[in-house]
Amino acid sequence: SERVMDAMGRVPREAFVLDAYRHLAYQNTPLPIAAGQTISLPQIVALMTELLQPGSDDVILEVGTGSGYQAAVLSGLVKHVYSIEIVPELAEQAAATLAGQGYDNVTVRAGDGYLGWPEHAPFDGIIVTAAAEHLPQPLLDQLKPGGRLVIPVGEEHGYQELLLVQVAADGTVERESKLPVRFVPLTGDR
Ligand code: SAM
Repeated sequence: SERVMDAMGRVPREAFVLDAYRHLAYQNTPLPIAAGQTISLPQIVALMTELLQPGSDDVILEVGTGSGYQAAVLSGLVKHVYSIEIVPELAEQAAATLAGQGYDNVTVRAGDGYLGWPEHAPFDGIIVTAAAEHLPQPLLDQLKPGGRLVIPVGEEHGYQELLLVQVAADGTVERESKLPVRFVPLTGDR
């Protein structure tokens, strides 16, 4: 949609990549960031943002802050973004980049995003940017009825699908597979 394209057009991706990759910031490709992680390719960021259908009053949870780029894109579309990153060094860097770029409606913390962020739940939408082996129950529990969860699910380094998941008021979980993807795994001690 134009709304998502506009939001992406306003975010300087070069501010979120390592200096060595700045010249590739506007290629449609994932790039390495610190701690052996990656910033996703813009096309996937666009698609996941689109699937989330973020509204201007929405409060969104992101699991997997990474560079902070996806959070920055969402920042321009919603009321507030809460973002959790399991690698403390990345959480710290992303928070600094986001603050430096003036994104003041994004809150980042280090932790295991599998557990969500109960203090700020329920969320209008949840976006997970690392591949889970199954749907994390705490995230389903922290979604508003009718809210959207966009998440890659599948084997570590194997077949994964990008799912759009919606939980109805009666607790029924509907899942729709959108496309095969390849994400770094959702890690953590579960
Ligand atoms: N959204 C990021 C961006 O825009 O740069 C890209 C995220 S990268 C593909 C996936 C991130 O998920 C990595 O930074 C990784 O450390 C993080 N991650 C993996 N497991 C996690 C977990 N259990 N909780 C929170 N973050 C996790």
